[in-house]
Amino acid sequence: METTQSLSVTFARGARRVTGSNFLVEAKEGGTTTRILIDCGLAQGERFSESVNAEKFSYDPASVDAIFFTHAHADHIGLFPKLVKDGFRGTEYATAPTRALLAQMLEDSLHIAADEARRNHDAPPYSAEDVAHAVSLMRELPYHETVRVGSALSVTLYNAGHIIGSASAAIDAFGTRLLFTGDLGRSPAVIVPDREYPEKVDYLFMESVYGDRVHEPIAESVDMLRSVVEDTRRSGGVLLIPAFSLERTQIILSNLDQMFSKGGKPMPVFLDSPLAAKVTAVYEQYPEFLREDIRARMQKGDDPFSFPTLRVTKNVSESHEADQAPAPKIIIAGSGMSHGGRIMAHEARYLPERSTTILLTGYQAAGSLGRRIQDGAKEVTINGASVSVRAAVKTLGGFSAHADRDDLMSYVEAVKPKKVFVILGETQSSAFIAQRIQGFLGIPTDVPREGETLSL
Ligand SMILES: [Zn+2]
Repeated sequence: METTQSLSVTFARGARRVTGSNFLVEAKEGGTTTRILIDCGLAQGERFSESVNAEKFSYDPASVDAIFFTHAHADHIGLFPKLVKDGFRGTEYATAPTRALLAQMLEDSLHIAADEARRNHDAPPYSAEDVAHAVSLMRELPYHETVRVGSALSVTLYNAGHIIGSASAAIDAFGTRLLFTGDLGRSPAVIVPDREYPEKVDYLFMESVYGDRVHEPIAESVDMLRSVVEDTRRSGGVLLIPAFSLERTQIILSNLDQMFSKGGKPMPVFLDSPLAAKVTAVYEQYPEFLREDIRARMQKGDDPFSFPTLRVTKNVSESHEADQAPAPKIIIAGSGMSHGGRIMAHEARYLPERSTTILLTGYQAAGSLGRRIQDGAKEVTINGASVSVRAAVKTLGGFSAHADRDDLMSYVEAVKPKKVFVILGETQSSAFIAQRIQGFLGIPTDVPREGETLSL
């Protein structure tokens, strides 16, 4: 009997878009079809949860055999409860830290999305029950351990060097190897071990958030953080840091710890983000997923994410204390793009002051409040009220957990695929890196569109 084999990839979401990572791989052999998903993330932009998230999935969730999560950022996991609500009953795989973070991150997403839905008079994409159901079945998959799905597919995770537990997923089927990078880290990375370069990859599906940009060196960001802290001390003002709870906050804390313990005069720091506090506990729980020098600090009894002037606020009344404490002071609060969370109250209070500095530490999605501030708006709307911006606005690029143009080029050069599909970036950024890969490395590229299905 003749068996027919076919392999395809559908870019359900996350093509020509930074967020909403969701890719379907189908392997057909004879009469059997095996389907797996890589990620199921929220599309984000002007809103934390864009209205497109409410749409039906373009495939039948009940027909999917397994899902693999590359890491615990909302744009990679945040739509998973809806997938479960809509019928997914397959197996879920992730690394141990991703699994530990998933419940916390999804609960947080639920709160922000529900608040936002109330403000916009529409329905959130899922409920608390959906989240509880979604996180109950997760299996742990260590790096380098191969798992089979059906008879046709096998999947292996490799360290992506982006955030704790982040993974790239290699899929082997019928002698062909696909590699989905997930989000890739810089090289060298700041807190997690450097990304790996899987071998014998035929088709590479690579992120491109910063495909057309080069980050400043990490050392420059360390210096800039130091000088912004010193300026805040001199001006007696407030340093506001909108926090990305996962990875960026731990990088900032670890740098402040180093700065204050190596002769820098300590300053009061308020970590006003319950989520960031919980996430930091996961970092402390999985030292084997951190860089060797960070692990060494921990073994010597130094908590790299804590110092004597750090105050972690637990509830809203402690959040008010952060407001009332005398300046100079540093307030780190979520969310990172000012989509919601406690940072908004601090912004409403301190952005009108000339002595304030707001320090943006990561990607600000087009249309987000953070992006408007970054683009120099003199007046913004926060919780329905108009707020004038007299604060200094600074951007720290070097602490990005994302590979930049040069990191992406060196990654492709090391992996040597036959073809690169550039995904997870704004169109301009994806097109730029695609052209560069083709021009400099002679490897064919494509920038697929959402909804497109590719037969391999
Ligand atoms: Zn990410």
